[in-house]
Amino acid sequence: MTKCDMCEKEAAYTRKYSGQGLCSGCFSNSIARKTAKTISKYNMIRSGDLVAVAVSGGKDSLALLKIMHEMSASHNFGIVAVTIDEGIQGYRDEALGIVREFCDNLGVKCMVYSYADLFDMTLDEALVLRGEEKMSSCSICGTLRRRALDVAAKDVGADVVATGHNLDDTIQTFLINMLSGDTERIGWMDPGAQTSHPSRIKPFCEIYEAEIVFYAFTNDIPFQSEPCPHMNEGIRTEIREFFNSLEDRHSGAKNSLYQSVLKMSRIARNSGQKVGTVCGRCGSKCTGEVCSVCSTVLRLKGQT
Ligand code: SF4
Ligand code: ZN
Repeated sequence: MTKCDMCEKEAAYTRKYSGQGLCSGCFSNSIARKTAKTISKYNMIRSGDLVAVAVSGGKDSLALLKIMHEMSASHNFGIVAVTIDEGIQGYRDEALGIVREFCDNLGVKCMVYSYADLFDMTLDEALVLRGEEKMSSCSICGTLRRRALDVAAKDVGADVVATGHNLDDTIQTFLINMLSGDTERIGWMDPGAQTSHPSRIKPFCEIYEAEIVFYAFTNDIPFQSEPCPHMNEGIRTEIREFFNSLEDRHSGAKNSLYQSVLKMSRIARNSGQKVGTVCGRCGSKCTGEVCSVCSTVLRLKGQT
């Protein structure tokens, strides 16, 4: 039996990059501590803030909600869960049920906002409207979700929006941006570069996805079993598999890339290089005259 490095119990998880073995309890504590450290390092939450935790029903967001809920009991901030219903038939219903039950059990208020109410169209309808356009399902969906979360945050009076994005998500997004020539976005990847209100925070940004999966498993967190039908349409799944196989052979590779992304982000911001402007229609951050949300909605509705 391999013993936990922190107590006398049997180790349930071994961190390959450090060799540290931990029992379930010590592992869960280490994830909660790491999350708290990230929040404090980047000053993500201030005393008295109301944090809207974006909860999709997946493992990352439910794990984040659990940890933020525990943290809010001993710190001076409040939380509310916000869920976005994209309108994907046969997919979202299971997740909404899981989120509602999970929030009820924790005693956390949960608010649901739908694309249908906010944009007058479900994602299913938007995908039909896109016609021959080459926008991927996930790029339309992600664009609308960003705006939906902003609306949700303002509606609940939140100061901060917390999402469950982990370290893997960050490096995947970095590579996707590089492959599409979106270099301006590098400046926004530093967690300390927040300028918007409500601010966007990713308290899991320094934690591997595999560790969040194990945290969810060992804490019996229920999560959606049905994957989104559009999940494999974009390049993200291939990039995820590439990074996973790299990490398998070269432990710590993902973390090294993450640290490099942070350095590049700071260099981009400090160089005075243009890292983005403000949308002329809605005032949100963008890289041109009109932000991607406004231009996507206008295009889909045939107003451009
Ligand atoms: Fe939206 Fe793509 Fe996620 Fe499905 S996989 S919910 S289409 S972003
Ligand atoms: Zn232990």
